[in-house]
Amino acid sequence: MRTITVPTSLGTEFPIRRILCVGRNYAEHAREMGGNPDREPPFFFSKPADAVLTGGADMPYPPATSALEHEIELVVALASGGADIAAEQALDHVWGYAVGLDMTRRDLQAEAKRAGRPWDMAKGFDHSAPIGLLVPAAQVANPNAGRITLHVGGSLRQQGDLAQMTWSIAETITALSRLIRLAEGDLIFTGTPAGVGKVEPGDLLEGEIEGVGTVRTRIAFNL
Ligand code: MN
Repeated sequence: MRTITVPTSLGTEFPIRRILCVGRNYAEHAREMGGNPDREPPFFFSKPADAVLTGGADMPYPPATSALEHEIELVVALASGGADIAAEQALDHVWGYAVGLDMTRRDLQAEAKRAGRPWDMAKGFDHSAPIGLLVPAAQVANPNAGRITLHVGGSLRQQGDLAQMTWSIAETITALSRLIRLAEGDLIFTGTPAGVGKVEPGDLLEGEIEGVGTVRTRIAFNL
């Protein structure tokens, strides 16, 4: 079994344990998905650790979909964990931050929602988590504010601000730690702002979060 890692801005590799994701953490995106943007308790899903795609590599267009969609997100990497973490201590467990893409087979997700089935095959497919360099927390002035954008082929598709998150980073860590024991190497995708949409083979995706960094991938033609 290979160890899955994500490169950091220090030139080191950060080993990944697992990938946890928050659903609907920005009100406008909750509305565009037909949901209620009120402050309901956060909900979570996961991707396998080996779904990460690093180094700006091309993302193969996945099978079994005709609606591959982008979701630009702040990613939190944990240096340590535990259960029942108090919100006041939550940020002490953070190793650093990165910009990531929660790539989604939206047609499979819609079908799963309709049938009351799990989201795993809509969210946790191969290469479904492109991620940029992990930046140590000490180098990120304020992870709870900053412009977040995604351009596809040079056109602005998604924009928002981390300050619009329904659940802050600390609140998300606390909520997750009441469901599972968090640990070193866990990555948390913190939800996406409005503007999600389809991508096609050949598209270049360029995401950026002010004060954190960038993520970049091109959707490959699978010849
Ligand atoms: Mn997402």
